[in-house]
Amino acid sequence: MVGDVRRVCEPVSTPRTTARPRDVAVVGSGVVGLSAAWFLQAGGVQVTVYDAEPEARPASWGNAGWLTPGLTAPLPEPDVLRYGLRSVLRPTSPVYVPVRPDPTLWRFLAGFARHCTHRRWHSSMQAYAGLNRLALRAFDDLADAGATARPRPARPFLACYRTTQEASSMLRELARIEEAGQRVHFDYLTGPQVRQAQPAVSAEVGAAVRLHGQRYLHPPRFLASLGQAVRGAGGEHRPERVVDVETEPNAAWLVTDTGRRHRHEAVVLATGAGLGDLARGFGVRRLVHPGRGYSFTVTGTDVPRDPVYFPHQRVACTPLHEPVDGGEAPAGDADLLRVAGMMEFRRAGEPLDGRRVRAIVDAVRRFLPGVDLDRRWDEWVGSRPCTTDGLPLVGATVSPRVFVAGGHGMWGVALGPLTGRLLAEQITTGRTPDVLRPLDPLR
Ligand SMILES: Cc1cc2nc3c(=O)[nH]c(=O)nc-3n(C[C@H](O)[C@H](O)[C@H](O)COP(=O)(O)OP(=O)(O)OC[C@H]3O[C@@H](n4cnc5c(N)ncnc54)[C@H](O)[C@@H]3O)c2cc1C
Repeated sequence: MVGDVRRVCEPVSTPRTTARPRDVAVVGSGVVGLSAAWFLQAGGVQVTVYDAEPEARPASWGNAGWLTPGLTAPLPEPDVLRYGLRSVLRPTSPVYVPVRPDPTLWRFLAGFARHCTHRRWHSSMQAYAGLNRLALRAFDDLADAGATARPRPARPFLACYRTTQEASSMLRELARIEEAGQRVHFDYLTGPQVRQAQPAVSAEVGAAVRLHGQRYLHPPRFLASLGQAVRGAGGEHRPERVVDVETEPNAAWLVTDTGRRHRHEAVVLATGAGLGDLARGFGVRRLVHPGRGYSFTVTGTDVPRDPVYFPHQRVACTPLHEPVDGGEAPAGDADLLRVAGMMEFRRAGEPLDGRRVRAIVDAVRRFLPGVDLDRRWDEWVGSRPCTTDGLPLVGATVSPRVFVAGGHGMWGVALGPLTGRLLAEQITTGRTPDVLRPLDPLR
């Protein structure tokens, strides 16, 4: 599985202008941290990965596994705001904000609302367009080197709606994505055409948009194999929580919850929804807030064999094809489907709220009659790392020894490997790739 990590991205850049670090610590072993670790190794850097809870199931474990450049767009947009205002206070709504005095949350929401304009969305989308063009290639790099399995093509990838009128919102969004400079290949299907393309959906689906060129993966397996690949290439994993980072001109010191101090030449902070805790001290002022989502695994007599999206219900369904190692679903249960959804702006550590799981079930039951939504395994809640402007935070901080990689919100898997590749290029060459400029963590 380890493969030849060096072959993949040599040369990644023009000659260096600064001394490159030979020993880098990566804090966080989600998709983003592990991708950074792997591509750094590919550039000849010795890597040590720290994770507070290496056996836990972070967002990179419980997500829907979609690699869908056709949908990868900034979250803050006028429709989200309109929709959100109507529904956020209902516990069954797909977007939920609890009413409570939480100054950080309200500061985050105020900042988010300020970015919900067409002008800002368009400008952020231009940044995404640059990333989306390159995103899938980074998965091929990993697969070519034998680090991970090659993601599956989604044939078809369907965004399903009850009516033609509902589907028009997706067509408008795709037109706006194209205006921002990204080509999206899609066609429009009527109800009978949808069932021909995806027999598992019911006659309640009256229209769909079929996106071409999208892919998907098995999130727990992808995460596990990337971790193995990093270890196999000599990366050390330390199960320690980093509580502080101190810098000197030539070094970064990590202070961990074990009371130990570890010296490295540089550090990448990739701590997901908690990114701000350590990054704030290095000039990263933009808030990162958890946007919690839920997922669970089901099976049935007629389970979709390709991803299905219900945009109005905000529910994503992904076939897993193989069991989840260490998961609850009995081995041999064919046709597992991961069902994921919800955007809940609560603190990361709060417990799973069963009402959200039921809301997801109720939202999709009529569309998937052959799926047994009442026998669920691996019910899970985890946090998307959301920023107020919907753009990730990737790059150098005020310290030349400290870099950050995170804040990808809904799209940290699709953009994780590319993020790792571009950041590794920046760290090892001292040059900032153009597509990273809009993601400047000091913006
Ligand atoms: C329901 C749901 C569905 C989703 N579907 C998709 C999808 O289809 N496609 C897509 O692209 N994205 C999807 N996402 C988003 C995606 O999962 C996230 O953007 C991505 O996983 C974030 O990765 P990360 O590595 O930044 O963070 P994480 O996966 O959260 O990893 C961060 C790691 O850092 C560790 N850590 C935190 N603090 C410290 C510390 N102080 N010291 C040491 N370690 C620390 C944590 O233990 C954790 O392991 C989905 C998210 C959800 C919730």
